[in-house]
Amino acid sequence: MGEQVTANIKKLNKKLEKAFGGKVRAELKGKCLYLTGELQEWDDVVHAGFMSVNKKKYTVVNDIVFAKQQSTKKPFITSAKLQDEQPDVLVIGGGIVGCSIARELTRYKLDVMLVEKEHDVALHASGRNDGMIHPGADLRRGQLKKKYNDAGNRMYSQVCKELDVPFRYTGQYLCFKDGWMKPVMFASLLYWKFNGIPAKFINRKELFKNEPHLNQKVKFALFFPATGVVCPYGLTIAYAENAADNGVKICLDTSVVDIEVWSGKIKSVLTNHGRIYPKLVINAAGVFAEEISRFANDRFFSIHPRRGTNIIFDKKAAAFVNTVVSSFGVIEASSIKEAHSKGGGTIRTIDGNLLVGPNAVETFEKEDFSTYKENIKAVLSKQQKTVPALSEKDIITYFTGVRAATYEEDFIVSFGKNIENIIHAAGIQSPGLTAAPAIAVDVSKMAAGFLDAKQNERFNPNRKAIIRAAVLPDDERETLIKNDSQYGIIICRCEEISRGEVLSALRRSLPCDTIDGVKRRVRPGMGRCQGSFCSPQIAQIIAEEKKIPLTEVKKMSYDSAILVGSNKDNI
Ligand SMILES: Cc1cc2nc3c(=O)[nH]c(=O)nc-3n(C[C@H](O)[C@H](O)[C@H](O)COP(=O)(O)OP(=O)(O)OC[C@H]3O[C@@H](n4cnc5c(N)ncnc54)[C@H](O)[C@@H]3O)c2cc1C
Repeated sequence: MGEQVTANIKKLNKKLEKAFGGKVRAELKGKCLYLTGELQEWDDVVHAGFMSVNKKKYTVVNDIVFAKQQSTKKPFITSAKLQDEQPDVLVIGGGIVGCSIARELTRYKLDVMLVEKEHDVALHASGRNDGMIHPGADLRRGQLKKKYNDAGNRMYSQVCKELDVPFRYTGQYLCFKDGWMKPVMFASLLYWKFNGIPAKFINRKELFKNEPHLNQKVKFALFFPATGVVCPYGLTIAYAENAADNGVKICLDTSVVDIEVWSGKIKSVLTNHGRIYPKLVINAAGVFAEEISRFANDRFFSIHPRRGTNIIFDKKAAAFVNTVVSSFGVIEASSIKEAHSKGGGTIRTIDGNLLVGPNAVETFEKEDFSTYKENIKAVLSKQQKTVPALSEKDIITYFTGVRAATYEEDFIVSFGKNIENIIHAAGIQSPGLTAAPAIAVDVSKMAAGFLDAKQNERFNPNRKAIIRAAVLPDDERETLIKNDSQYGIIICRCEEISRGEVLSALRRSLPCDTIDGVKRRVRPGMGRCQGSFCSPQIAQIIAEEKKIPLTEVKKMSYDSAILVGSNKDNI
């Protein structure tokens, strides 16, 4: 260890002692800085992590004990159905990162398996985000985030065309209320131009012509045409289906619970469905990527989860914003909770709703997706400063997602540091949705190189989406119904979804047998009534199609029963 580094660690320990009264210690081992001790407040644990970052010298592993630390929720079903399987590649995690990697791996002659602990893909961050394809304006050169965001953004049109997923570059307005900021922003335009980010100045008149419902105090805006919108779970499902169509074995309700390591190599991976013997493991486990690296004796980063809450508005409020709008200076970075937030915005989603948010709150709870009243109020009032017409009465639902941030606030896309046959795609917080297509290409190339795999000439990049009867021209819709009368029976009145679409959702290459699974594939229950009318019918269709009793139909996972039995005799 160099003298300078030793001096730096000494200095850091003094700072930590002052801040936490001697309860936290830092020790450098190789290229990792380990924090140990015990603290009562989670914010302090996170603060100690941030205080210790030195990106050039080491990465931070935060081992400070916090009383309320949680363990991973696992599926309760166990079996031996995967015992002794020997895939070339085992991908852990069915989010956008894992599913896109699995699909890209099928470009090579490889036997690929993906395990996901939940009952469906995209149930964590990949199904709980803004669906915004970022232009990368706030990212710095040298960050992996920047590299993959920019490359991913450019791939979106092609990927969404291949996977038949609706996508649009809507553009984004960053609004300013202070006229004196103009000269500063003109200088910034040069910076973005130099960094290859298209951006232009928009005067007040032009801005209000395009976005008439903005706060009258807005003086000008910057426009980023490379901002896009996509349905994040729709894209994850599409990637997974195309992966399955190309031969990937997707195992849902399958959790990795341990990893056996031998002489610097992963020998086997233990799941609730048996022990698997892969040649290469890809860690795409989101907020649990650190646990996977711990199982594999390859821990060199820590994840500190960061919650974000979003609000969805009824389609009738959609006219308030046509693109994506946000305001400069809405982030009050007074605490570590908000300091790493992009500040959120108001987004016209690809499905025609308005989505408002998110905020950013540090949390120790990796999979608590509860939404709190105070978060909704805070998110709404923040975005009302840009779009005053946003009103509580138009809210139809809200949700919370958890980002998988490292203390370095950057992605990790690399082979293991101590283990040769693992690739980590970890710390993929925002803009991970934007970056995923590019991460997937790189990771699959790394894997193919490691395994010396040849190109797969039979790879089919194309997938066909489920027909959306409501958006077809009248004559095509009529023909569709003539050919299959199920498309003429409307199940969801809010979103105009037919029985034919629901049945299609239940018959795809990626299994689907829950009410939320159908909702995320063809949208019944996404409208104003939030499923009050259609859910019972969807449950009935699932029961009939899957030949299971109605009481076996679940909302989202094995532990989300809806009906428990009959309340009358002889029914
Ligand atoms: C509120 C919010 C807003 C965001 N907005 C945007 C945005 O607008 N644009 C953008 O580009 N990005 C955005 N992001 C970031 C983006 O959502 C994430 O970067 C991306 O979804 C990460 O994908 P992932 O596959 O790495 O993680 P995840 O989607 O979390 O997937 C990881 C999967 O691994 C599974 N898993 C974990 N442990 C195990 C195990 N032991 N065994 C088996 N499976 C396991 C989990 O169940 C999970 O499904 C946002 C994130 C949040 C939370």
